[in-house]
Amino acid sequence: MPVLVMKFGGTSVANLDRIRRAAKRVGVEVAKGYDVIVIVSAMSGKTNELVGWVGETSPMYDAREYDAVVSSGENVTAGLMALTLQEMDIPARSWQGWQVPLKTNSAHGQARIEEIPPENIMTKFAEGMKVAVVAGFQGISPEGRITTLGRGGSDTTAVAFAAAFDAERCDIYTDVDGVYTTDPRICPKARKLEKIAFEEMLELASLGAKVLQTRSVELAMRYNVKLRVLSSFEEQSDTAGTLICAEEDIMESNVVNGIAASREEAKMTLVTIVDKPGVAASIFGPLSEAGVNVDMIIQNVSEEGVTDMTFSCPIDQVKRAEKALNDARTAGTIGFDELTVDTEVCKVSAVGIGMRSQSGVAAKMFKVLSDEGINIKVIATSEIKISVLIERKYMELAVQALHDAFELEKA
Ligand code: ASP
Ligand code: MG
Repeated sequence: MPVLVMKFGGTSVANLDRIRRAAKRVGVEVAKGYDVIVIVSAMSGKTNELVGWVGETSPMYDAREYDAVVSSGENVTAGLMALTLQEMDIPARSWQGWQVPLKTNSAHGQARIEEIPPENIMTKFAEGMKVAVVAGFQGISPEGRITTLGRGGSDTTAVAFAAAFDAERCDIYTDVDGVYTTDPRICPKARKLEKIAFEEMLELASLGAKVLQTRSVELAMRYNVKLRVLSSFEEQSDTAGTLICAEEDIMESNVVNGIAASREEAKMTLVTIVDKPGVAASIFGPLSEAGVNVDMIIQNVSEEGVTDMTFSCPIDQVKRAEKALNDARTAGTIGFDELTVDTEVCKVSAVGIGMRSQSGVAAKMFKVLSDEGINIKVIATSEIKISVLIERKYMELAVQALHDAFELEKA
């Protein structure tokens, strides 16, 4: 029997009614002849509540016990889903991560999946079980302790199962009906994409289109797992949602397929640093040790051996970055005259695999922004992405203007 993986997020299993509705969807796929592996999240809000309880109980908590508590939400939904399916006369049972076993490393709270031996579940399928309901987000460490995969980790569980069981597809049921060309709340003309390449989705995911855990897309790309994102609140059809797949599976694509925007950015500049070998390393070393996720970097041309260095990072890491740089300055490992911080910026990016073969995208993007009177503060590019840092108050305007200029409302 072909295997299908179906993952239901927190809002899709938020109460017993929704679990029934999700179970009906599973029933439809079982009727088509699939052996189905269902991955469930905790009921919406549950994981946040559990995380809160841990923090209240123990501010400096033991990460192993954090995982023991925080993984429990998924156990409840897995059992309830199995019961619901049984009520529908579909042979089903639940599995917690350790029972599969989904083996991870020991990085509690952020564990990485190492192996999913398929034998246990396959044996049950061979005996006539139709649905294996697996608690997402959790696994077991080499020490035999329960681990969790980081917030949003059920997506990664689902993709890992699809890879391990060579599933035909991995369907991610959620509360949005797919991946859009941009955030529809910012740009009403945003269009749902039928297909998007893994690479594009990765750029959009890490740029703030919070549909899927980024790791799950990386994993899907590595194992070429076809991922479909679709809503559990709309009628099911074979073409519903957005298919995230390999570039080769997309016949024709726009040059730009998405505009991503991220509001929570900050720009920092080290004014007057000496321009000599090792300076960049002495700046970004301490920042990385402090856990600052530096994104865009520019170094100005130097005059008389001195220059400025500008970088961007998430706004909530500014304090950490300031401390790391000031500490390094006090320790004498770096020197600068001044550290300026601009927290009124946002990042807007155009993403598309078509950029690899078509030139002029950057020029067009800059022209559009200039026509709107928007000043660009920092630019960064990759093979399939152009990002600019601009004043935050222009974010909506920039996204809408770019969406229009690249005609993203048209398929
Ligand atoms: N319940 C976990 C969370 O809220 C995992 C998930 O839903 O993906 O992060
Ligand atoms: Mg999620």
